[in-house]
Amino acid sequence: MHRPLDIAIIGAGMSGLFLGHKLNQAGKKFTIFEKGHEVGGTWRENTYPGLHVDVITRSYEFPFARSRHWSRRYAAGSEVRSYLNDVARRCDLERHIHFGVEISSAVFEDGRWTLTSTDGDSRRVDVVYAGTGFLHRPVTPDMPGRDSFAGPAFHSARWDHSVDLKGKRIGVIGTGSSGIQIVSELGQRGHDVTHFMRTPQWIQVKENPSISRLEKFLLGFPALSRYWDQRMRKLKIKTDGTENWKLTPGPERDEMTRRFLKVLEEQVPDPELRAKLTPTYQLGCKRIPKSPAYYKVIQQDNVRPVFGPIERIEPAGIVDGEGSLHELDVLVFATGFDSHAYMRPMQVVGAGGVTLDELWKDSVYSYRGVALPHMPNFFLLSGPFAPVNSLAIPSSLDDESLFLLKALDIIERDSVALAPSTQATERFCDQLGDAAERTTYALCDNWYRDRGGVPVLWPWARERHREQFEQLDLADFDRFSLAPDEEHRVADPV
Ligand code: NAP
Repeated sequence: MHRPLDIAIIGAGMSGLFLGHKLNQAGKKFTIFEKGHEVGGTWRENTYPGLHVDVITRSYEFPFARSRHWSRRYAAGSEVRSYLNDVARRCDLERHIHFGVEISSAVFEDGRWTLTSTDGDSRRVDVVYAGTGFLHRPVTPDMPGRDSFAGPAFHSARWDHSVDLKGKRIGVIGTGSSGIQIVSELGQRGHDVTHFMRTPQWIQVKENPSISRLEKFLLGFPALSRYWDQRMRKLKIKTDGTENWKLTPGPERDEMTRRFLKVLEEQVPDPELRAKLTPTYQLGCKRIPKSPAYYKVIQQDNVRPVFGPIERIEPAGIVDGEGSLHELDVLVFATGFDSHAYMRPMQVVGAGGVTLDELWKDSVYSYRGVALPHMPNFFLLSGPFAPVNSLAIPSSLDDESLFLLKALDIIERDSVALAPSTQATERFCDQLGDAAERTTYALCDNWYRDRGGVPVLWPWARERHREQFEQLDLADFDRFSLAPDEEHRVADPV
């Protein structure tokens, strides 16, 4: 290779920033294309009342940008957003970011990728990293009368802050993490809330203590911060158990189920309401929302649960499955995301004209969460099968970056474009599919599962995730020629 590689990262959310820092450290030339006007991805888009990180926030920090300024153990979304903006500044990433550029297509031609944005501009690059996340396309289900509602109606990830909620009757649809956090917050603020629950959730009641000034001061000392983190890890295992009970159903999960039921019994004395709030599916199958307040809030006079399916939406409100109309002024769809969109709607066309939509026609998949056959030098950050529950996002990104930087060294050294072979990808997917089907995640309907029913997440213990990235086996990859400059080169396997 006689010129530095041109590298593009798509998205300045957590993954784009993380990899950007790694590339910066390695002295690479790269650009981050970000469709928004600020970094943060999902933490920029979600601003709903009550948004908090639901894992211990210290474990959500980047290992290279520690913070000791969180106000609580589970910090508010606004704090995470500020933190990510701060990381972009501290890690000198801002100058690499082109804001307001939405990449609509990526086409591999003549040994390089042509990236075209929605404004029609094109750039040619050698290597692409898609850091687009997977919970970025809100879904508003197509229920009868959905668009007839007379008042303001919006998705949880598109909160309309211009709507004054004071004195309004607010309907919230959905019992995922977003719905539970929204109802907890609005209920605590004294708003009139009706919560529509098609499926009651297992909810973890977790206190969220503030972090004192003394603790923040002590966190400035490395030895003390290590001690604090260790204490938090122990506490996490004590409250959440190990990750194994979600992977392998067995006695530990039975014990966790008993614990959840006991808390529900303590918090909801009315047996009739308690029965309605008790899920009928296995604990851990859907992602568990955490809230210190939800069970208390749902019993307050200003909050009403409505169980079962929704029959239709009318201008005046929602008609439930029993035909009763619940009159509302504001409607919130906390109804989740198209979790298997990944970088789409971007059009991706790889070697030989193979498209991403063709590859993912039956279900989404990847080679180890980071690459796809026929897509030379196109890598995914937190792609299909990357850990969703078993590993905090920064740890998972740290593992992925290790591998991606190894691959980048080879790309540069050998002037090649690498794509995993179809056989290596199938081998990985077969092993993963077998393991995934044995996990708790396969036992109910949830956003992890693809059309074939396989949960698209990491089904093994966390150590195995690191191990798979410690070695890069070139035998797993097809090699394509990489254009040395803008001259025409045919990108056939070499
Ligand atoms: P979600 O978990 O997919 O929940 C969507 C909810 O909408 C479900 O309760 C679903 O009911 C309901 N729903 C969908 N269509 C419906 C319909 N036609 N009628 C009635 N109800 C309907 O979405 P989410 O709450 O936005 O959470 C998604 C993920 O984002 C979470 O699992 C988590 O990974 C992440 N998240 C994290 C945080 C955090 O860390 N603080 C906060 C929010 C979200 P069914 O269950 O019956 O399908």
